[in-house]
Amino acid sequence: MTVERYPHLKAEDPEVYELIQKQAQMECSTLKMIASESYASFDVLEACGSIFTNKYAEGYPGARYYEGNEFADALENLAIERGKALFGCEHMNVQPYSGSPANAAVYRALLSPGDKIMGVPVSDGGHLTHGWKVSFSGKDYLQIPYRPNQETGRLDMAEVRKIAQAEQPKMIWVGMSAYPFKLDYAAFAEIAEEVGAYLVADIAHINALIIAGVHPDPVPYCDVVTSTAHKMLRGPRAGFIMSKVEDRFHEKYHPTSKWNLAQLVDRGVFPTMQGGPHLHAIAGMACAFKYAQTAEFKEYGAQIVKNAQALCAELEALGRPIAGGGTETHLFLLDFRKDEFTGKDAAQALSKCGIIANFNMVPGDTRPPAKTSGVRLGTAALTSAGMKEEDMKKVAGWIDEVCKHIVSNDVDAVAPRIRGEIAEFCSGFKFPGITE
Ligand SMILES: *Cc1c(COP(=O)(O)O)cnc(C)c1O
Repeated sequence: MTVERYPHLKAEDPEVYELIQKQAQMECSTLKMIASESYASFDVLEACGSIFTNKYAEGYPGARYYEGNEFADALENLAIERGKALFGCEHMNVQPYSGSPANAAVYRALLSPGDKIMGVPVSDGGHLTHGWKVSFSGKDYLQIPYRPNQETGRLDMAEVRKIAQAEQPKMIWVGMSAYPFKLDYAAFAEIAEEVGAYLVADIAHINALIIAGVHPDPVPYCDVVTSTAHKMLRGPRAGFIMSKVEDRFHEKYHPTSKWNLAQLVDRGVFPTMQGGPHLHAIAGMACAFKYAQTAEFKEYGAQIVKNAQALCAELEALGRPIAGGGTETHLFLLDFRKDEFTGKDAAQALSKCGIIANFNMVPGDTRPPAKTSGVRLGTAALTSAGMKEEDMKKVAGWIDEVCKHIVSNDVDAVAPRIRGEIAEFCSGFKFPGITE
């Protein structure tokens, strides 16, 4: 049962209340497999819904442009201290409104319009903000693309080095939205050093895996590391930025600047990109950072990968190929290149049956981006509801069953039954922030 909450909302605005209730019901009776989603806990939700939404606090703790910020200062410092302890970084900024604004602030902090950056195209698993053409990042900066190998699905570091040496970018972005393997930050750092480029890791998708120690840690190797606080970290919809304090390219790129790297980053966020920080989101972030320091959270991070690997193995055993042959993270891509149906067909059929995911290009895809040959599946949300390897067998069974019904063209006929089975299965789990 979903927990009864929001008595004032229920009385004052039943239309909004109703939609929240429906969404909550959906989130605890379907399999949430969108790789970027999970469940925020009750404490995070309460902090985000708090009166800190009222307050203006332009500036940083101890140096605000508005009065009355003694508790805002304490709150922001608490979030920063917890975040720094969690990731072991030298500097942290918790003000970015989300992941994309965090990345925008990093560009504005360190580069000039027209500068060359290296990033992975969206069509190959990269993020919009890594220089994709429709994003500000591709319009204001020149993206030199690098991509996973079309056959193996893996990044080839010799290839990355060749591109970097030929193009001499000023910044290299590493971190993706649809890449199932470990990233070699040490190798990226060597290349960035050779060509004199800032190295920026974007860990929006994999921060919990890094905290759990099941994915390499980029913090020692990178000038800057950006992240979202939602996704698998299960905090508020917000972003944060970590950096070194010293600007190792001060002489090369910013000889007249009086700011170090930490100051450049802070100035990139406020006043360059943003006005007042979202203190209610920062409150939620402080809660999420506290929970992420617990042993329970580290177990969750490790279990996410175990679940993804178990699910992959089950699906392969059922004859469903996986792009790149497996996963080392929270996600993988089902590869439908040999099937008569597309990734979009599969995502829509799965959704009708209660398995919520998204269609996605796979390496070597020949279908257009609006159809694709893949479905991206992630296990962070299912893991935060307490699911384990043996549960992945059931999940794999339903996915395979739905795919068979796409071929026999009777998804609509079987969808209510499968949806019911999944809802029944979900009722055996506890969904953070929804059920108790
Ligand atoms: C999700 C994501 C972001 C940005 O997230 P928003 O909060 O949606 O702006 C940035 N980088 C990567 C790699 C992501 O996956």
